[in-house]
Amino acid sequence: MKLAWHRRKLHLKHPFNIARVERSAAVEKEVLLVKIEHEGRTGWGEAAPVSYYGQSLDSAEAALGRCEPLLGKDPFRIEEIHARLWREIGDQSATICAIDGALHDLIGKRLGIPVWKWLGLSPEKAPLTSFTIGIDEPDVIARKTKEAAEYPILKIKVGTPDDERILQAVRSVAPEKTLRVDANCGWTPENALERMRKVVEFRVEFIEQPIAPEHNEAMAALRAARVAPLFADESCVKEADVTACVGRFDGIVIKLSKCGGIRPALRMIHVARALGLKIMLGCMVETSVGIAAAAQLGPLVDYLDLDGHLLLADDPFEGLGGRGGRLTLNDRPGLGLSERGC
Ligand code: MG
Repeated sequence: MKLAWHRRKLHLKHPFNIARVERSAAVEKEVLLVKIEHEGRTGWGEAAPVSYYGQSLDSAEAALGRCEPLLGKDPFRIEEIHARLWREIGDQSATICAIDGALHDLIGKRLGIPVWKWLGLSPEKAPLTSFTIGIDEPDVIARKTKEAAEYPILKIKVGTPDDERILQAVRSVAPEKTLRVDANCGWTPENALERMRKVVEFRVEFIEQPIAPEHNEAMAALRAARVAPLFADESCVKEADVTACVGRFDGIVIKLSKCGGIRPALRMIHVARALGLKIMLGCMVETSVGIAAAAQLGPLVDYLDLDGHLLLADDPFEGLGGRGGRLTLNDRPGLGLSERGC
């Protein structure tokens, strides 16, 4: 198998800010598009490394430089390939995710079927995705909310001293929409309960990651207060984290770039189900390649937050759609995408 990759700069439609990240108006983002070629076919994957998880474009590229000999000759042996990757580059989950996605795309193309069909899933079971509104001034948030009119579910980034003003701005233009909020660790064990009580006054379906993972003990008390269902994102990175979420959270957020791709995500889904946890699939700001890999698992989960490609002005692939929050799991082989100029 031949492995190649390149950096791709992406442009966002709007500046995108979240709690705990410096308030620079992030209008650009760079990812790695990864290509595996085998017997005349090409599979695409994407690495969207984030510094919060100790990864960068440089570390991902350094890891990719070591990967080709680890792939072997047979793309169908995904489990073996994963074992070798985790052994050699285990701290680079975004890179492993890219290779996992490219292998699934390649195998789907080789079999002539979409990945969701290969996994035995029913595409119509996938829930609608939410659309994310990043942190901004209230008037900008109101404008963004208005522009997001086609999306019935919004995810609002909070975790700031201005959370009420943010939610007031959203509700002023979207009084009836389903809202979810993500604090991205922006609250503290001391103020989280009060902040949670404030945000639920705006009728939110659930709250994502109120406080930082190092305060996981305090999470149990927050959950016991039963203010709203709580979801673990930063507190649930890999398979090994799922069990610890029981009693602290009501659900988990699985992201392929955190856990290392479709294979580990499938195992997390099954473990979470067995433990009675709800499941949301999330994403980074990334192209349709990364999002389509996650979307293949959509029929297995309760909630989708797969809007990374919808935030872009220049997605280099097409085929996934997303109008009105409905992602398309089409009948095309592999991840079902076509290149628009990558
Ligand atoms: Mg989150």
